[in-house]
Amino acid sequence: MGLKLIFLGPPGAGKGTQAVRVSQKLHLPHISTGDIFRQHLKAKTELGKLAQGYMDKGLLVPDEVVISIVRERIAEPDCGQGFILDGFPRTTAQAQALDGIINIDRVINVDVPDDTIIKRLSNRRVCPSCGGTYGRDLIGSDTCPSCGTALVQREDDKPETVRKRLSVYHEQTQPLIEYYSADGRLTDIDGSLGIDNVFNKIMSALGSDAK
Ligand code: AMP
Repeated sequence: MGLKLIFLGPPGAGKGTQAVRVSQKLHLPHISTGDIFRQHLKAKTELGKLAQGYMDKGLLVPDEVVISIVRERIAEPDCGQGFILDGFPRTTAQAQALDGIINIDRVINVDVPDDTIIKRLSNRRVCPSCGGTYGRDLIGSDTCPSCGTALVQREDDKPETVRKRLSVYHEQTQPLIEYYSADGRLTDIDGSLGIDNVFNKIMSALGSDAK
């Protein structure tokens, strides 16, 4: 009986950054469906090729594909003590499928206004070598502070794709806020604060759940 969490929120809300920190703190596996697709894309697998067509357009990969990946992943032994899902579910069909597989304890909804997201994502750079994510204006450089590799912009962080991802979020993912509020599983967190501040708010929201 471990803690099973979902991190919900628009692209660029910082949910990935927070999910990594919380997973380290609570020793829970961090499962990011976006990361899984990016790994497949890099390894040029069939799944990677299929996902790329959707990702590059800012669209969602079909539900049945994502659901079967998550179903298999959370059945792995390391998920026996709980897990953090980051970027899944993103549609009502995915949420319903997940509820049919396992009981989720809490949903952390990291919320940030659209204009902040557009600014953040146009500034976001990733390290193709170690996978780190950085704000270009924060580090004031185009090289990775941890390994020195030249940073790149994610293909789907280009402005046209960001706009598409945001509209997909509002249409398909935002209804999940209502879905999880209805039975009291949702906690809203203001993601426009600084990283440490958001982290502390999440940890105190998890409170006794996390003990
Ligand atoms: P992310 O890194 O979470 O922003 O995910 C990057 C991209 O991967 C998304 O824009 C989608 O194309 C795809 N993706 C990730 N998670 C899901 C999901 N739960 N459902 C459908 N597509 C997803």
